[in-house]
Amino acid sequence: MLNSKDKEIITAAIRDIHDFPEPGIVFKDITTLLNDADAYATLMEHLYKRYCDYNLDYIAGIDARGFIFGSALAQMLHLGFVPIRKKGKLPHHTLSESYDLEYGSDAVEIHADAFRGKKNAKVLLIDDLIATGGTAEAAVRLINKSQGECVEACFILGLDFLDGQKKIQQLTNIYTLIGID
Ligand code: AMP
Repeated sequence: MLNSKDKEIITAAIRDIHDFPEPGIVFKDITTLLNDADAYATLMEHLYKRYCDYNLDYIAGIDARGFIFGSALAQMLHLGFVPIRKKGKLPHHTLSESYDLEYGSDAVEIHADAFRGKKNAKVLLIDDLIATGGTAEAAVRLINKSQGECVEACFILGLDFLDGQKKIQQLTNIYTLIGID
């Protein structure tokens, strides 16, 4: 678990932007964490310590901010990184999972050969934030559909007033570093 000093350092480095991208939303801006070398290192060292004994095979990150933390962690753990992208971005054969939005639906995709044919590859999923959990739920399903086994889903931030985290708990372990009331 994150100790209170590290939690304070990471929390203080994330900026709230009110009414972005639309009125009423408080957008959690992680760019101010990324350009703060000490806070970024505090976060990544915490993640490294948590996951170094998990015997993972791959880290999968969700488009786009999950790529930043996921690929940095993959390098620290000497693991391969797999991007889960928004529909239509990946160039080779893909598997796709759609999820509901407030109006309509969207989809995320993974390369069908992302885990290089390794059966039951142990995969950690990572993203910056879980809100309704729609994107993460589709991502977990995609990993499991492409012969991987999603052993945990990790989020830096979780919006506790939405039920996204409960949704993911039904599919895999979930680890949220900082809950937002
Ligand atoms: P959801 O599918 O509702 O859980 O939304 C999660 C995705 O939307 C993540 O990739 C987040 O980066 C992004 N997101 C949702 N709400 C916010 C927010 N308040 N601040 C920053 N990013 C958000």
